[in-house]
Amino acid sequence: MMDTCSVSIALAVIMVSLSGGAPIMAADRTKQTEEEAKQQLDRFAASYKTLDEWQARARNIRKGILRGAGLSRMPDKCPLKPISHSRRELDGYSVENVAFEALPGYFVTGNLYRPAGLKGPFAGVLCPHGHFPGGRLRSDQQYRCATLARMGAIVFAYDMVGWADSDQVKHGDPNALAFQLWDSIRAVDYLLSMKEVDPERIAVTGASGGGTQTFLLAAVDDRVAVSAPVVMVSAHFFGGCNCESGMPIHRSETHETNNAEIAALAAPRPQLIVSDGKDWTKNVPKVELPYIKRVYSLYGAEDRIENLHLEDEDHDYGYSKRVGMYKFMAKHLRLDLGRVSNPDGTVDESKVAIQKQADLRVFTPEHPKPDHAVKSAKEAADMLFANGRGPQAPPTTQSAQTRPGQP
Ligand SMILES: [Zn+2]
Repeated sequence: MMDTCSVSIALAVIMVSLSGGAPIMAADRTKQTEEEAKQQLDRFAASYKTLDEWQARARNIRKGILRGAGLSRMPDKCPLKPISHSRRELDGYSVENVAFEALPGYFVTGNLYRPAGLKGPFAGVLCPHGHFPGGRLRSDQQYRCATLARMGAIVFAYDMVGWADSDQVKHGDPNALAFQLWDSIRAVDYLLSMKEVDPERIAVTGASGGGTQTFLLAAVDDRVAVSAPVVMVSAHFFGGCNCESGMPIHRSETHETNNAEIAALAAPRPQLIVSDGKDWTKNVPKVELPYIKRVYSLYGAEDRIENLHLEDEDHDYGYSKRVGMYKFMAKHLRLDLGRVSNPDGTVDESKVAIQKQADLRVFTPEHPKPDHAVKSAKEAADMLFANGRGPQAPPTTQSAQTRPGQP
């Protein structure tokens, strides 16, 4: 399951470990056995019975996540100063190359897809991309974003740190998780800065590492109304990359959780969990879903949690997974599925004009990064953690674990 990037990240971690530099701490758990995961969920479930008790637990877990990410006290929100260029009008949508400042001189980069020929207000959808080669520029990401725009949403596809136009913080940075969570929070601000975006209809969906970004954002930011994490909600594997488990968000002296429970923090907001038979989401219908459903049931909201399990499929955000997500988003964000449907009801993505990757880039010789851009990850981290205590050491009981390739 390791792609070339996963291998290179794993090698980078090993090389840093061997380089004699600062010791690499086992910042967080990356995995446990399937049996341990089941027992852990049983333990969690036994710790609350009522909605009040769950909400107290949920508050503590949210706190633990933010503290683990060094974001107990968030940085001040600077003006976004959005940049946009190269807008192209296509069939039923437009796409442009955009950036904004998540911190002064620190940029979140991506593409904004807008519906054409429709009157707002529009839903706003964030689309993180995961560790798939090509990231936000790859075709399946373009199909997903453009189709959602054709259905009537304003869609923002944004780089993970260290990918494509994001080059101020390397992807292997020890604080990558905190940067990406902050980037996602600011991406919600970015959507809401557009007067045509309806603040009641903000959603997020991504696969794999983008699924991690999806449930972490939904867990800590209640402006997210709808979420659809794809091929990542698992109680036994938390992702091996620094951006998913490089900081102690799952366990501290005061909290213990796993990614199934983090997904449950979105309750009672509508959530679609997409899983498959060939990766760490293979147990979702039997293990993770019942736990999450129980949380939703405390709110009387069982009908707002859905699972699309594709037993014969693998780890991707392919067509059938996208179709499930389109239908779920159409239902909960009041999007128009009819605009992308064939007469027989199947979803037609063929009107999407796949753009050359180079044409989707934000910072180019004609559009260079502004002069005031910060020059080092340290400068950016100093701003990110300016108001808080910064990243915390993991609990001393945490044993070192191998860090398999990230999903
Ligand atoms: Zn990563």
